[in-house]
Amino acid sequence: MKAGISAKQHVKSGIVAMHHMRAVGFLVVAAALCVAASADFLAMWSPDEFHPSPALTRIDSLSRYCPSLRGTRADTRIFVYEGAASGPTLLVLGGTHPNEPAGFMAATVLLENIIIRTGRVFIIPQACASGFTCTDPLEGSPQTFSLQTQSGKRIFRFGGRAANVVDQWPDPLVYLHYPSGQQLSGNETRNLNRAYPGRQDGSLTEQTAFAIVSLIREEHVDLAVDLHEAAPEIPIINAIVTHEKGRELAANAVLNLEFENLQFALELSPANFHGLSHREWGDWTPVIPFLMETSNPIQGRLRGTTSEQLIVDGVDPWYLIAGRLGTMRITYDEAGESLSGRVGRHLQALRALVDVYNEEHPDSALVLEGLPGYGELTARGVHQYLR
Ligand SMILES: [Zn+2]
Repeated sequence: MKAGISAKQHVKSGIVAMHHMRAVGFLVVAAALCVAASADFLAMWSPDEFHPSPALTRIDSLSRYCPSLRGTRADTRIFVYEGAASGPTLLVLGGTHPNEPAGFMAATVLLENIIIRTGRVFIIPQACASGFTCTDPLEGSPQTFSLQTQSGKRIFRFGGRAANVVDQWPDPLVYLHYPSGQQLSGNETRNLNRAYPGRQDGSLTEQTAFAIVSLIREEHVDLAVDLHEAAPEIPIINAIVTHEKGRELAANAVLNLEFENLQFALELSPANFHGLSHREWGDWTPVIPFLMETSNPIQGRLRGTTSEQLIVDGVDPWYLIAGRLGTMRITYDEAGESLSGRVGRHLQALRALVDVYNEEHPDSALVLEGLPGYGELTARGVHQYLR
């Protein structure tokens, strides 16, 4: 009897030991998966590499204009270029919306190729730096995309539309814009382009907006350009949006671009839609502001496969069908909307705005060189202009 019990206990303890071993095995596998996943996750926080042109004067931080940003993931680099002679000051923002890669890439090509003779240029390629550390939920977006440059492969980040919830949380049910009191949906509270003019003691996004507006004021910026993209079906694409102050300058630039066979729509900033760069920079500072939009299939609702290739080539079969059916406002054919072409549009339009400004201010011109235009970028590819 005693021997029987001990045999049963023996079998039971064997089963328990087997369960323990299996549990330990599962824990080891789970720990290994966690380590692998956390390496991938932590890589999202590492800073991106930029290779500024030899014309670079200094690299600054946005926190210089709002010290409370120091040490936060909203602090971001400002690449400053100063010519040998004085002249006007230009500010260029990419990455206000990190899921609009042509804006960020146009700023990157600018900072890696610019030659400056007179005046000053401030370039912020990742205006919403926190948004580059995440992607938008339910979009299936890739975290990165890569380009093969002459000296090797470069990987660039593809982010979300707004600041990371890890950095600013929770969202209110309704976002009240400061100071207008305009009401928007709660998640817009993390959208930098709904936060201007911002406030020093506000949310992280409002502090970022405040810092950019302070930079414009303190550095006496004359022209400021915010580079964006939008879904191909959105009416405002391949467009320059401007404040009343920039209407004439932008109209002349659009006309000049037309002569260069590049069509741009001219849109006026609505006076009662608050928080946007082209409205608030113009209302709160002396700057002449512009916002530019290109057409980005990976943001579109009609798109099929959401991939790295769609970011770079911009070819989507569903947009091709929409194009053939004549439902698009732009020409969308087999060539798609390539990243090179979209970056080219931004840079050619930027050159056109600076050229018109210089014609209007012959005594104080901003003389820039080294910037590839639409023709060069589409012929050679954006990868040829990255160091
Ligand atoms: Zn945008």
